[in-house]
Amino acid sequence: MLVEKKYFKIEYNSSITYIPEVIDYLEIKMQDIMNFFEIKTIKKPRKIIIYDNLEEYKKHIEKFTTYRDYMCADTNDGNINLLSLEAAHKTKTHANMTLNELKTTICHEFVHICHQESEVEHIEPEIIWFWEALATNLGNPNMFHKIEITAADQELDNFSSLKNNYLIAFTIEKYLLENYSHVKIIEYIRFPQKLKDDSKKIISEAKKYSKK
Ligand SMILES: [Zn+2]
Repeated sequence: MLVEKKYFKIEYNSSITYIPEVIDYLEIKMQDIMNFFEIKTIKKPRKIIIYDNLEEYKKHIEKFTTYRDYMCADTNDGNINLLSLEAAHKTKTHANMTLNELKTTICHEFVHICHQESEVEHIEPEIIWFWEALATNLGNPNMFHKIEITAADQELDNFSSLKNNYLIAFTIEKYLLENYSHVKIIEYIRFPQKLKDDSKKIISEAKKYSKK
């Protein structure tokens, strides 16, 4: 079944009874997220596809990368793909996933989409901690908390192998949101080279903040 809304289309098996509640939540939260990014439309509206069959989701993931147990949502094909609660409960990592976590996981992915749409310039390699910093704070803050950052700066460059990577990203962004202006953060989003130029300073400040 396919339901079309202003900023998204959602595809799901109509037997999943909680999806209308998810849709109501997304309509409100997505507007808040777009307001943060100061964007009025999504140029390329994406589909949200709910997989209620874990094996099918594995097949979808395998088209792009090796499936791992912690994987429950992705934007590999430009859409937001995620497991239904029932399918997530069949994994080890997400055996206790709640409806609230499912809702905010979609918001996390939606933050990435708004981030992509906001970039005026793009740099490679991307500053991944910043992408996850925004998505964890604006999308699913209920799943993260502040921690003390002890990693070396170079370790942050290799985000995927960094221990506690999402918690570190969450902590840096919490620091930025509390101490930098919204104008400045928007500038970093639109012009990532400026973030790259300031990142050493930001990380060092965030490390001090994380110890408090
Ligand atoms: Zn993410």
